[in-house]
Amino acid sequence: MKSSARVVVIGGGVVGASVLYHLTKEGWTDVVLLERKQLTAGSTWHAAGGMHTLNGDPNVARLQQYTVNLYKEIEKESGQNCGIHLPGGLQLADTPERLDWLKMAQARGRYLGMHMEMISMKEAKELNPLLEEKYFVGALYDEDEGSVDPYGVTHAYAICARNRGAEVYTDTWATDLSQRADGTWDVITDKGNIHAEHVVNAGGLWAREVGRMAGLELPVLAMEHHYLMTEPMDEVIEYNAKHGRELPHMIDFAGEIYARQEGQSILLGTYEQDNRPWSAKETPWDFVFQLLPHDLDRISAELERGFAHFPAVGRAGIKKFVNGPFTFSPDGNPLVGPIKGMRGMWSACAVMAGLSQGGGVGLSLANWMVHGDPGADIWAMDVARYGDYATLAYTNSKVRENYSRRFRITFPNEELPAARPLHTTPIYDRLTAHNAVWGAGFGLEHPLWFQDKGLEPKEDITFYRSNAFKNVGEESRAVRERVGFSEASNFAKYKVSGEGSAAWLQGLFTNALPKIGRTVLTAMLNPQGKIVGEFSISRIGDEEFFLFGSQAAEVHHPRWFLAHLPANSKIRFETLSLSMVGLTLAGPRSRDVLQKLTDTSLATKDFPFMAFRKTNIGMAPVWLSRMTYTGDLGYEMWMAPEYQRYLFDLIWEAGREFDMRLFGFRALITMRLEKNFGTWFREYRPIYTPLEAGMDRVLKFDHDFIGREAVEAEMKAGGPKRKLVMFQVDVDPQAPADVIGDEPVFHDGKVVGWITSGGYAHYSGVSLALGYIPAELAVEGTKGFEVEIIGKMRPATLQLEPVLDPSGSRMRA
Ligand SMILES: Cc1cc2nc3c(=O)[nH]c(=O)nc-3n(C[C@H](O)[C@H](O)[C@H](O)COP(=O)(O)OP(=O)(O)OC[C@H]3O[C@@H](n4cnc5c(N)ncnc54)[C@H](O)[C@@H]3O)c2cc1C
Repeated sequence: MKSSARVVVIGGGVVGASVLYHLTKEGWTDVVLLERKQLTAGSTWHAAGGMHTLNGDPNVARLQQYTVNLYKEIEKESGQNCGIHLPGGLQLADTPERLDWLKMAQARGRYLGMHMEMISMKEAKELNPLLEEKYFVGALYDEDEGSVDPYGVTHAYAICARNRGAEVYTDTWATDLSQRADGTWDVITDKGNIHAEHVVNAGGLWAREVGRMAGLELPVLAMEHHYLMTEPMDEVIEYNAKHGRELPHMIDFAGEIYARQEGQSILLGTYEQDNRPWSAKETPWDFVFQLLPHDLDRISAELERGFAHFPAVGRAGIKKFVNGPFTFSPDGNPLVGPIKGMRGMWSACAVMAGLSQGGGVGLSLANWMVHGDPGADIWAMDVARYGDYATLAYTNSKVRENYSRRFRITFPNEELPAARPLHTTPIYDRLTAHNAVWGAGFGLEHPLWFQDKGLEPKEDITFYRSNAFKNVGEESRAVRERVGFSEASNFAKYKVSGEGSAAWLQGLFTNALPKIGRTVLTAMLNPQGKIVGEFSISRIGDEEFFLFGSQAAEVHHPRWFLAHLPANSKIRFETLSLSMVGLTLAGPRSRDVLQKLTDTSLATKDFPFMAFRKTNIGMAPVWLSRMTYTGDLGYEMWMAPEYQRYLFDLIWEAGREFDMRLFGFRALITMRLEKNFGTWFREYRPIYTPLEAGMDRVLKFDHDFIGREAVEAEMKAGGPKRKLVMFQVDVDPQAPADVIGDEPVFHDGKVVGWITSGGYAHYSGVSLALGYIPAELAVEGTKGFEVEIIGKMRPATLQLEPVLDPSGSRMRA
């Protein structure tokens, strides 16, 4: 056994083997895989082997498509049979809502170059005569669906990797991890130690335990999962003989089952409502090539529905039942990427669909390790999307919810109830008393909108406009016409201080740093010139700054900052989380409300747009910022949590004479559309450049910053190839629906781009949508755009200037 290697991958399931394969493909060959028993000994050996491209996140869907297409390549290269069957697949809709959902999935697939087709039930029945049509209203056919042999695939990856120089040590158990002062790792095994620059946790069922060896508690939980296999069926044999092909896969959302042909039998599995975690706290190390006892009572309701929907399967004899465990993250997507603050530690775990996703996970991780960038937008799989709030108990609650909803629609305005409320701010009860409808992000409750007194604070879930529409409209108009008041704590807040802070931040940020007492907007790029962060930065001293950004990135951004912090420096980087909370006051009368409560002059000449200073509001010390995301005259106030209730009551009282109204997150995110303001993870993501995203104003070439060379090269090459633009969308008056995000944009009948976000701008009375299109089309006067919304083509007009106040006079007033 080697005593040192560049990379040690822990885990010889389909995921670890894929990571090893992709590392060698990218040219890293001093790589080792450790498997405590034999390859596939965890969850991989008993997987049903099904694979498909459908995923709620289009970028993950694209990586699933990559995985499906990879198998032929590794089969050829390794000579190992992967048991590839690609008969295509049917997703069966039982309700109009599900049909809408499938239409939207198909539309997303269009700009990703995926081949999916909506078909009638007559066509579906012809493709798969086993189904009972009366239970369904329509179907989506996807040609990239099928199954593989998990054993064959895992070994094929390993053979290819070995052929390029990788080593695979089976019967070798990594029992501990220890990090040296220089950041490298000692991997302790029962066969000796290996010193490694990088460690990949691909521990599958034991990913939690491998994480714990490095002091990490990863949000991963294994669930029991059943499938059954029938005896050979005449109907299957006849179909194969008549058509010369296998039956397509089926996902039956109403039955909460999936089914496919296996030999001459049908394999049918379910995501049951009465589900069970397995080994909730610790996975036993003596579990090897093992299954779990059947618990058929728990899956009887789903089986009954499945047998009604596929009567021939119900009549067939059952050859075997399989119950095995496999792992999930709280939202069901993998946990991939570098671990914040832990150099050389990488995650490739919680991969619940290893045969659909393993290839994409291996590709992204290998790209990230070798080239410093995953090569695609993998936010939906990034391990950084969870923070410390995702404890064992949180994960347990969320995973069970997610498992039970595997085949359910999550509507774009739907807030799922498990593990809530967790984090609340001090004014939670005050806002609840005002009939807030709550949403949650990154563990924190935030008000979405405020329901009328006497009505239940609940939003109807829909793809169309919900019961929130009227209230969000009133909230938006209150801000634009008078004054609105809101909770603002759901931002990420960081403090950077200490000698060297200014020079360090300047080397990370595209914009020049602000003067003391001022705020500027800025971007942070990777060396490839892609946007890895977007912040407002306020300076409170020569070497003292606050940064404000998206709360969802509260691990993602610190991971970048900490990785770039100079060794032995005096710079202090702090994530403030809820030790600093916020309130926002916005609208033309906001200054009048606030001036009643402070001796600081708020006149523009004394406290101009983008000013940031410490002041008192009543008895409370706050950091006062003259800017808001609404694009109106307004203020953000940042304070210690013990002052928030006092300030809420004080400001609420002061606002009465101005007919002030509370507003929520829904109003805020639609108001920013009127100003063409983008938002992190929608318009600004690590796949876009600042020039593409129209962030030219925050690019200052008077200093060096990471990514500058790439931006200059892009400019030299003639500028960005695509551009972020705003559209006004002409919605269907019969069934008004605004864009959600990820809809394809057509120009003269061809798909040319995609929507990133949008919604109804209540004050301006228009439906708006932001999206990326080719730069040559992003010019005033280009006509012929359409956006596909729930299966309907809707005309769209370029809106290059903000619909409201293009000169910005309101916010500077
Ligand atoms: C009943 C059932 C049906 C399924 N059907 C499908 C399907 O149709 N399609 C699909 O895509 N997915 C399916 N899955 C899920 C699939 O099995 C998993 O997604 C996949 O196996 C995950 O692979 P992995 O490599 O992450 O984990 P694992 O297969 O669990 O591999 C982890 C490996 O790491 C090794 N290991 C762990 N810790 C150490 C250590 N400290 N030292 C050395 N070695 C270590 C283990 O021995 C193990 O071999 C199914 C799962 C079940 C249970």
